[in-house]
Amino acid sequence: MHFALDEHQREVQQQARAFAASTLAPVAAEYDRQGRIPPAIIGGAADLGLLGCERDFVGYVAALIEISKAWASLAAVISVHNSLVCYPIARFGDEAQKKLYLSMLTDRKQLGCYAFAEPLAGSDAGAISTTAVADGDHFVLNGHKRFVTSGRQARVAIIYALTDPSKGRDGLSAFIVDTYTPGFSVGETNEMLGLRGSEAVDVILKDCRVPKANLLGGLNNGFAIARTVVEGGRIDIAAQAVGIGEACLEQSIAKAKDRRQFGRPIAEFEAIQWMVADMSTEIDAARLLTFRAAAKRAASPDAAGLTMAAAMAKLFASEAANRAAYNALQIFGGHGYLTEYPVERYFRDARAMTLYEETSEIERLVIERELAK
Ligand SMILES: Cc1cc2nc3c(=O)[nH]c(=O)nc-3n(C[C@H](O)[C@H](O)[C@H](O)COP(=O)(O)OP(=O)(O)OC[C@H]3O[C@@H](n4cnc5c(N)ncnc54)[C@H](O)[C@@H]3O)c2cc1C
Repeated sequence: MHFALDEHQREVQQQARAFAASTLAPVAAEYDRQGRIPPAIIGGAADLGLLGCERDFVGYVAALIEISKAWASLAAVISVHNSLVCYPIARFGDEAQKKLYLSMLTDRKQLGCYAFAEPLAGSDAGAISTTAVADGDHFVLNGHKRFVTSGRQARVAIIYALTDPSKGRDGLSAFIVDTYTPGFSVGETNEMLGLRGSEAVDVILKDCRVPKANLLGGLNNGFAIARTVVEGGRIDIAAQAVGIGEACLEQSIAKAKDRRQFGRPIAEFEAIQWMVADMSTEIDAARLLTFRAAAKRAASPDAAGLTMAAAMAKLFASEAANRAAYNALQIFGGHGYLTEYPVERYFRDARAMTLYEETSEIERLVIERELAK
């Protein structure tokens, strides 16, 4: 298998790299501390074509790695917008839904958010308790969502709710909801360890009347939709993890050459060399797994073996990023523990990678189930 980027993909990667260096790297730490991404930065990402239904998934993944190297929070917002909001509308939406919402999410630079998790439901979709009850031309939504990335800024939400509670997760439906709809309100910010720029919030739905025309992909198809979209989401998070891992590696090599102890650069100590070698090997492997999954996804969202490839990429890359961040902080010594250097942010951001969308334990279950088929 050949993973070299073609000319167009290299151009997309190069543009993202330049944007990351000029626009993100100088301000990421400060905005992350403030817990926000300025609209001008979202606009800059949109101008690069990074928001919306990506046309070339491999080029998009290459760009996402570059963005994550500078600021993983922005990559998280882009991923949710593209893979969890735009993609399901493009794939499962009817013509009217696509025309209205995809143009809002692409041309008009409005953000999208994805409301699946709840205080009592994360890995287990069968524990979702938000309901959607038919009433004339509308569904009336009631419930409490948690961890809604971009929930405060988004104009469009994909909300998962029970339309047939007797069927558990197979009674879930997905709805496209304009966040200006009465009954949709944003609750508390979920104060997080990392990815602090990508604010996540509670969303409260109280008698939120959503037109029946906004049901996405048919009644009781919500779980099937969520399972499909998570495929792309896994690869996005693998790409974020590769970006964080590469940033850790680059910073570690530079620091090891620069920092002198006992009269010589710490890069001359074998203990440091082994850490760098391990980081480099693991991040390279993560990169290959991620591009293998991206190439399959680019060939077809229904490609054989995609579920396994995406789950393996997400599992390995997210855990490798955590080991890389741990080693980078170790190589920086006490200085790595200071907010003055970006490695403490990489360390905190990496931690989210094994948790969100699906935890490492769930990825292992997915891989084992695919093997057992
Ligand atoms: C930074 C961040 C951003 C997020 N953004 C969003 C978002 O935009 N929209 C959204 O809807 N959600 C979002 N989430 C929620 C995220 O998807 C969930 O946190 C995740 O699915 C795990 O669910 P949970 O936190 O409820 O953990 P739980 O499901 O309660 O899991 C707790 C522990 O039990 C383990 N476990 C659970 N079931 C099993 C099993 N069957 N076998 C073995 N182990 C198991 C888990 O692996 C974990 O270790 C976000 C979370 C984070 C941290």
